[in-house]
Amino acid sequence: MSGAARRRFGLEELVAGVRAGDRTILGRAITLVESDARADRELAEQLLESLLPHGLDTHRVGITGVPGVGKSTFIDALGTRLTGEGHRVAVLAVDPTSSLTGGSILGDKTRMTRLARDECAFIRPSPSSGTLGGVARQTRESMLLCEAAGFDVILIETVGVGQSETVVDEMVDFFLVLMLAGAGDELQGIKRGILEIADLVAINKSDGENQAAAGRARAEYAGALRLMRPRSEAWEPRVLCVSALEELGLDELWSAIEVHRGLLEASGERAARRSEQHRRWMWQLVEEDVLRAVRSTRKVKVLADELEVEVLAGRVPPGVAARRIVEALGL
Ligand code: GDP
Repeated sequence: MSGAARRRFGLEELVAGVRAGDRTILGRAITLVESDARADRELAEQLLESLLPHGLDTHRVGITGVPGVGKSTFIDALGTRLTGEGHRVAVLAVDPTSSLTGGSILGDKTRMTRLARDECAFIRPSPSSGTLGGVARQTRESMLLCEAAGFDVILIETVGVGQSETVVDEMVDFFLVLMLAGAGDELQGIKRGILEIADLVAINKSDGENQAAAGRARAEYAGALRLMRPRSEAWEPRVLCVSALEELGLDELWSAIEVHRGLLEASGERAARRSEQHRRWMWQLVEEDVLRAVRSTRKVKVLADELEVEVLAGRVPPGVAARRIVEALGL
């Protein structure tokens, strides 16, 4: 890219460009919020502050599922349908492992070929800052930028491993879990944890010979969900059979998301949930900043390094060391 094309945009240009829905400037604004450089952080915060009141009333939907379940096929199909109905769809990804694997497997444009060419869609791969907390902050801020740019449907993709689905659940209104039938271990292990946060379970690849097995899996999941404590008073989690490839069940699935929104809006839960997410988000940032101060303030860092040696050697109890470090911050 030429020097002129990579030049830095000023605050006003960024605000105007994002508000105008310019996808190139939106991409640059996201790069800014992903940056750890101090000057970038300041500009990013000014940008977010200027844009915040312009966020639309949007759908924030988290989507998880193991690799191969059909996430990208599903997002490509659903997203294309939604843009066809006049929505503007942004796809973001949370994949804290991407920095380890050297390239993101989520939010990759080559995996969503129709949506990637769609003028009403915006696809952004996972930031690769390494820590889940860092990725979460960047993705939340990117989401706000997309909303300010007029994207009214935000789909946040993540893999169903580790903690990333919980982190995504903390930033969305609706959490969708994609599953496969017939694996024989439907209700075991890690999947149970995922069910606890699911607003809807979609059994994907419910096509061809797979349909009967998908029907059985649907009944099993529905039974399992009934035994769990619902996390919303207004909504009972549902199970649907879909085929992302043949585009079956997608209308029903989107209607369920809209019904969910209507019910939670009426009960006040939707607004309360978003406010609570924002409150927790603030405290997470405080935690991160305090931790960063510990790690980067010279005096504190020297002390922390010394105390770490003492704790490792068993000479100072961890609690005592922690208190000394926090006190040294002089808060
Ligand atoms: P991801 O890793 O979760 O993003 O999964 P992909 O979307 O890349 O899909 C993995 C494979 O499953 C690809 O070969 C898809 O064509 C296939 N696939 C995805 N959805 C369906 C479906 O609904 N039915 C069938 N039969 N195959 C599907």
